[in-house]
Amino acid sequence: MKLKIVGSGGMSIIPSSFCKCKICQEAREKGGRYERLGPSLYIDDIKMLIDTPEEIAVACNRQKISEVKRLSISHSDPDHVKGMRIVEKIGYDFIQEKCMPIGFYALPEVIEDINRMNGDCLKYYGDILRCICVNGTSHIEIDNIDIDLINNNPDRNITFYVIREGAKKVIYACCNPKPFAHNDLYFDADVLIISLVSDDGILGDGTELKDAPFKDEIFTLGEVMELKKYYRIKRIIVTHIDEIWGKSYGYYSELEKKLDHVFFAYDGMEIIV
Ligand SMILES: [Zn+2]
Ligand SMILES: [Zn+2]
Repeated sequence: MKLKIVGSGGMSIIPSSFCKCKICQEAREKGGRYERLGPSLYIDDIKMLIDTPEEIAVACNRQKISEVKRLSISHSDPDHVKGMRIVEKIGYDFIQEKCMPIGFYALPEVIEDINRMNGDCLKYYGDILRCICVNGTSHIEIDNIDIDLINNNPDRNITFYVIREGAKKVIYACCNPKPFAHNDLYFDADVLIISLVSDDGILGDGTELKDAPFKDEIFTLGEVMELKKYYRIKRIIVTHIDEIWGKSYGYYSELEKKLDHVFFAYDGMEIIV
């Protein structure tokens, strides 16, 4: 199984427009892995993209992703949905007025949320422009790849993906993973790709995470290590690395040397399982 982190950033891209913080300044100077676009993952084996942040078209160009046959969206938050227009170019020929629908897969409740918050966009793309074929489902089987879509948080309808090929297993917990609801499918995964983890609890402006309004939604590294041990997960990859954590690519690449099979994603990171 071959996966690629198309974007490793969070709510705001790095460098963030107008921002003068040291992380954004460094990213402007150095570029490459110091920059982060919004959160998304590509499953190369089945040409499937998970999530479309606003700048997904730019991210796909940067990461040399030339083919998307399938799309899934994990939940309705803007940093995962607002690049949905990518389906117009993939699934519709405006000169020949021809539909070439790509497969769209999501939990039924997520489809409802996306339509409610985005002017019925899935209905428009599915029924009128017909550039996508909408499947409300909790299970996908394509070629050798088997994917379970699990609603980790029914209050917010956040999808976790358990992606399997034979005995190989990857979990993509792409946003708001806390609280992490138990599921037997998570045991013995090769990789857990998990979002919203603060390593030292100090945010970009020096504020301590414990004083921040979103403190209960963020994992600490210690908590992630407990998940790794409990579920006997071989490798952790932290993604959805927000600009507000105030840490650079250089910082994380030093930190991961001290950790036991915990790595920090960057845009273009390939994951072979
Ligand atoms: Zn900044
Ligand atoms: Zn998010």
